[in-house]
Amino acid sequence: MTVTYQVKNSIYVNLTNRCPCDCTFCLRHNGPGVYGSGSLWLEREPTLEEVVASLDSCDFGRFREVVFCGYGEPTERLDVLLAAAEHLKAFDASLRVRVNTNGLSDLVNSRPTAALFAGKVDCISISLNTDDPAEYLSMCRPKFGEAAYPAMLKFAREAAANVSSVVMTVVGEPVTSIEKQARCRAIAESLGATLRVRPYEPAI
Ligand code: SF4
Repeated sequence: MTVTYQVKNSIYVNLTNRCPCDCTFCLRHNGPGVYGSGSLWLEREPTLEEVVASLDSCDFGRFREVVFCGYGEPTERLDVLLAAAEHLKAFDASLRVRVNTNGLSDLVNSRPTAALFAGKVDCISISLNTDDPAEYLSMCRPKFGEAAYPAMLKFAREAAANVSSVVMTVVGEPVTSIEKQARCRAIAESLGATLRVRPYEPAI
């Protein structure tokens, strides 16, 4: 079972394969893993103790960032995520902790959750994908339907008030035109976040 894996200079944590979305572009449609990680399909979800044990085996002299990302939506396991992040910060407060998320944590967990990340997470990266709620719906196919896009924006705004860095992401051209990127940047900045344009990687 792959709980932690390396991507460049970071340790990625794979908490779950569950996700409330079914994005048309999801990497999970392409195969069992990414970046030479081996299979990220979990036969069962790791316990907090297993996550902590896997993190404790990492060389944090070499890797200075931990990213909760996985092959699913990490806030599906919010309690484990937060406890593991707290463990990391207690071990070394200078370790950078990031969460890559679809931003739907409040709907997944049926409560406001952004404030829970304060002091445990340095950066939350949220998939904005588009400035158009209708396009978001057809692209990400969230099980929450039309409630998802505004909930994601609300989470981003509240996250920006609680963690030092909130980044919203879109995929670059040809998926997202320069004009659309500008509109997405305006949305991100209006929420207190910055926009990151990820390079387009065509499926092989
Ligand atoms: S939110 Fe992420 S994990 Fe979930 S379906 Fe979309 S791309 Fe895949």
